[in-house]
Amino acid sequence: MEREVRVRFAPSPTGPLHIGGVRTALYNYLLARKLGGKMLLRIEDTDQNRFVPGAEDYIRESLAWCGIELDESPWHGGPHAPYRQSERKPMYMQYAMQLIESGHAYYAFDTPEELDAMRARLTAAKVPNPQYNSITRSQMRNSITLPEDEVKQMLDSGAPYVIRLKVPRKEEVRFNDLIRGWVVVHSSSIDDKVLMKSDGMPTYHLANIVDDHLMEITHVIRGEEWLPSAPLHVLLYRYFGWESTMPQFAHLPLLLKPDGTGKLSKRDGDRLGFPVFPLEWHGTDAETGQPTVSSGYRESGYLPEAFINFLAFLGWNPGTQQEIFS
Ligand code: GLU
Repeated sequence: MEREVRVRFAPSPTGPLHIGGVRTALYNYLLARKLGGKMLLRIEDTDQNRFVPGAEDYIRESLAWCGIELDESPWHGGPHAPYRQSERKPMYMQYAMQLIESGHAYYAFDTPEELDAMRARLTAAKVPNPQYNSITRSQMRNSITLPEDEVKQMLDSGAPYVIRLKVPRKEEVRFNDLIRGWVVVHSSSIDDKVLMKSDGMPTYHLANIVDDHLMEITHVIRGEEWLPSAPLHVLLYRYFGWESTMPQFAHLPLLLKPDGTGKLSKRDGDRLGFPVFPLEWHGTDAETGQPTVSSGYRESGYLPEAFINFLAFLGWNPGTQQEIFS
């Protein structure tokens, strides 16, 4: 049976939504509308240290101003509620345990000092990309290297730990990206990513994959900065036994600085005299702590239709004379 098309926009409320984020949301929305599917929004707020108050309201108001309608979200509800990851927290641990039981994840007890020492050792030995991986894990303190009763004792005593994915040393990880085509990565370049942090919160990788699966997402359309994470996600789908319903990936090229050297930032917009935010953003200067105001398209007098058409036409052309889309 054909699955209903279900896409998601999954911002982290770590600051104001940028035009790059609106563009990602727009592509998701358009695909859902074209294919008669559903568009949902999930707030990825598991990193409490980077949480910025007001960012979630800003996301909601920006999308509403742009006319990007949501079928399911923290504000609209839906069959897979809650749509805020912080409210789904207890569930992620069960999934991490599932991976431990199947031998695809393990407990790691290393202290920050031990991790620093490992990196220093590898750097001194001129290892180009020092990682916690299939080679280095054998020198660290984890449930693979320690005797079982010691691991049990440490867990019982409440010693801090993280749960890491056990990435195989030699395996090809491949997936067919809708934009890039076949992407093939050797597993030796993937590190044993942390899935559960010592504060009991899942990392982005675990929460994102579990939620995409439970929310029956069929297409993951997101910025290209997530392309390096995708092989790890493919491994997670495999180890959970969810490969047959793995979403299709589409990694969108980013909006770059005018000279092409990196991701477009607020500073580039300021310098060139255009806003990078849909709405005005009242923030705080990270260095001085003083309140700041960044201009938005809405307050600058642009119509939402103009803003949306500008975004839709970046890097795309319908091949006809039509210049304005509703
Ligand atoms: N929370 C991630 C972000 O802030 C989502 C990335 C994804 O779509 O998987 O962009």
